[in-house]
Amino acid sequence: MEPFDQEEDIRQKIIGLGESSVRKSYYPQLQDRILELERFHALLDRSRELIVLVEAKNRTIVDLNATVCSIFEASRESLVGSDISQWLPFEVMDKMRALENHREKDARSIIETTMNNSEGNVFIEFVLEYVLFNHEPYFVIFGKDISERKWAESKIHTLAFYDTLTHLPNRQLFHERLMHAIVITQREHSYGALLMIDLDNFKALNDTKGHHLGDELLKQVSDRISSVLKENDTLGRIGGDEFAVLMENVGDDEPSALLATQNCALRIKHLINQPYMLLGYEHTCSSSIGIVLFHGECHNKETLFKQADIAMYQAKHLGRNRICFYDPAMQANIEHKMTMEAELRRAISKEEMTLFYQPQVNLEGKIIGVEALVRWNHPQKGLIPPNAFIPVAEETGLIIPLGNWIMHQACTQMAAWMQQYPKSLKHLSINVSVKQFQESNFCDSVIDVLKQSNLLASYVRLELTESLIVENMRETISKIEALRAVGLSFALDDFGTGYSSLAYLKRLPLDEIKIDQSFVRDIYNDNNDAMIVKTIIEMANNFDLDVIAEGVENKEQFAFLEENGCHLFQGYLFGKPMPAEELERLFLQYKAV
Ligand SMILES: [Mg+2]
Repeated sequence: MEPFDQEEDIRQKIIGLGESSVRKSYYPQLQDRILELERFHALLDRSRELIVLVEAKNRTIVDLNATVCSIFEASRESLVGSDISQWLPFEVMDKMRALENHREKDARSIIETTMNNSEGNVFIEFVLEYVLFNHEPYFVIFGKDISERKWAESKIHTLAFYDTLTHLPNRQLFHERLMHAIVITQREHSYGALLMIDLDNFKALNDTKGHHLGDELLKQVSDRISSVLKENDTLGRIGGDEFAVLMENVGDDEPSALLATQNCALRIKHLINQPYMLLGYEHTCSSSIGIVLFHGECHNKETLFKQADIAMYQAKHLGRNRICFYDPAMQANIEHKMTMEAELRRAISKEEMTLFYQPQVNLEGKIIGVEALVRWNHPQKGLIPPNAFIPVAEETGLIIPLGNWIMHQACTQMAAWMQQYPKSLKHLSINVSVKQFQESNFCDSVIDVLKQSNLLASYVRLELTESLIVENMRETISKIEALRAVGLSFALDDFGTGYSSLAYLKRLPLDEIKIDQSFVRDIYNDNNDAMIVKTIIEMANNFDLDVIAEGVENKEQFAFLEENGCHLFQGYLFGKPMPAEELERLFLQYKAV
């Protein structure tokens, strides 16, 4: 209604009331009052907040502003006088009742809720106030459209908790779900399972075909895994190509939980194995899956993640495309290795390593050479033998600095002996690990060490193992030849334990083979071992190689070996591995003789 029409309307009513004196005195005041009301209404209509006045007694709408009409999508006429409960969500009505029950003047209550209109869901924050006008109770209701804020909040939530590529829960959200699942299994005495799924060789795809193909694969893999999961299960992407599955309630006892989890993991593995079409490019892929079950006991999420990870790495270690359950013995092993690795790193840098030398003798028992053997002089544990730490050094790559140190130390020692006790030894044997030998600069570094220590190459014999030779025959041969050309000689260590075959012996430019001590041990009461040893000696003689028997501990072994044509020996019968000074005393004894 236009202001003018209202004025006119009221004017008519006043005229009808009676005396002209009354008209004359009240009319201007009334007109001002009306204009004032109109202004005030226009002001309220400009507000972007909803404003509603409701009579408390019967819940009827007394007044409202234009924003209410637009949100409720109703005209002022249809709203004024109607029951507010037909327009507002029930939770707002509940608040209204609660306010009324307290009946405190100016009491207020705030509630966020959603309303539906033709534009969809509208988030509104309502503020309700219980007030008295002229001793009569009313509710003043303010409402603010907070849809944009809510949208931004949900966007932030999505960014914080979901992976943007696959829209799966990210690591953080997955952790939260895992914590929840741990509580549930404790309460319900059921089993839960955590699966870590890592795609095999994913990096190669990314590197050769580009990230867009890698991303496409991740999306397809996530769809495939999702397709086998139940409603309560959670799939998350927790790293580059790492997915995790959380399964709640996989069984009430361990055997059934194991079976159910394994079946699910097998289905996942099978689906991942199916061919992919990645933007026109066909691709196949496999996965390594580690699983840990949890149940009742006090588990924390970090421990479970670590255990599932260990199982996953075990699956990788066993050749990929397989499933492994977490095994506590495996963890103890890994922890031991980790401690050992840290200690070993320190030991190498702090020079806790020391070299022992074991004599190699001829038929007369005269020392003709020594083998350098590393010992770890641990500050608390004392001397540690090499078989306790060399495998860890090999696995962690620490064998490279350790091997270099041994080479340097042994050559320096040999050079000193050759100065002080000339002709006391023909050669010094040094063990070379696979990794060390495979270093591209191996030959140069050996030659460098010889120069630095001022030692003739012919004094050094390198001991190689069979596994090294099998891995890359051609490269091995060319390295051996290069070093033999400058004067070094080569022995094949632990002969008979590996892939020993005539074929290798024929092709390799070797100087000596060493019969492994495991054959020598039972040589005189085990026919098999005796036969093997005889054959090795014969072979070596045929190929014109030196042959030395290791682990000779008694006269019977010595007699058998001698009788069968072996002329070189190493073992406790002739001397344990010993510190350099002790060996020097032996040199002096010989001199004295
Ligand atoms: Mg050796």
